[in-house]
Amino acid sequence: MWIDTHCHFDVEDFDGDRPEVAARSFQAGVEAIVIPGYLAQRWGHLLEVCQTISQPRLLAAPGLHPCYIRQHQPEHLEQLDALLRRHVCVAIGEIGLDTYVPELKEPDLYRKQQDFFCGQLQLARQHDKPVILHVRKAHADIFRLLKEQGFQNGGIVHAFSGGVEEARHYYRLGFKLGIGGSLTYAQAKRLHAVVAAMPLEALVIETDAPDMIPQSRRNSDSGKTRNSPEFLPLVAAALAEAKQVSLETLCGVLRKNSEEVLRLV
Ligand SMILES: [Zn+2]
Repeated sequence: MWIDTHCHFDVEDFDGDRPEVAARSFQAGVEAIVIPGYLAQRWGHLLEVCQTISQPRLLAAPGLHPCYIRQHQPEHLEQLDALLRRHVCVAIGEIGLDTYVPELKEPDLYRKQQDFFCGQLQLARQHDKPVILHVRKAHADIFRLLKEQGFQNGGIVHAFSGGVEEARHYYRLGFKLGIGGSLTYAQAKRLHAVVAAMPLEALVIETDAPDMIPQSRRNSDSGKTRNSPEFLPLVAAALAEAKQVSLETLCGVLRKNSEEVLRLV
């Protein structure tokens, strides 16, 4: 059975058929799905979704996403603190820094991104939780801030987009690298190099649904591009091929990795 370590199963793309998608995912071998947060006003719904479905197990990881930085307010950190006291959450996510989108790089906004990242690292320390990181073109600043904050709880670098050196650095700091549908794309050379260089113990898998549809499920005729947790086995198959291991071996190692980093056992 597989664990989808990053899936936005709470978003409206799934409002019409969430129970059916959950049933098909479970049938496909997905035993648990981690749902990261992005906006404070969506946390209530996220927690509700986690309670309505029992197979697969839905695990909440609420937090404030760097791409929505304009909308975050200081009181949202207090709300997150209160929420973590009252509800079972596996991690704080998805948090981090993004300078890939040009306007997010503007000095005021980038400063705000860093402030909210640090604020959430502090909450993760207080509540003894790992974090789910969203990092695009900002690895050096992430390393600096993790160090400054003395953060040692580890977590997952979701949809890892860095190079081998960065991958090794995260792994040394107690992070796993989230590998998703990009691996099914032949042109993702850098990701293939990272996967080849890193031990299986450093990796976990994710769909990032409804985004990041695997190559074979891309249907340009119908215009259907919604990714789904039921496609997680396609990521697993691509990873098994890249690492030249059996699905059984991969399944055992990934499960252990996910359970360890998210402290599920
Ligand atoms: Zn995400």
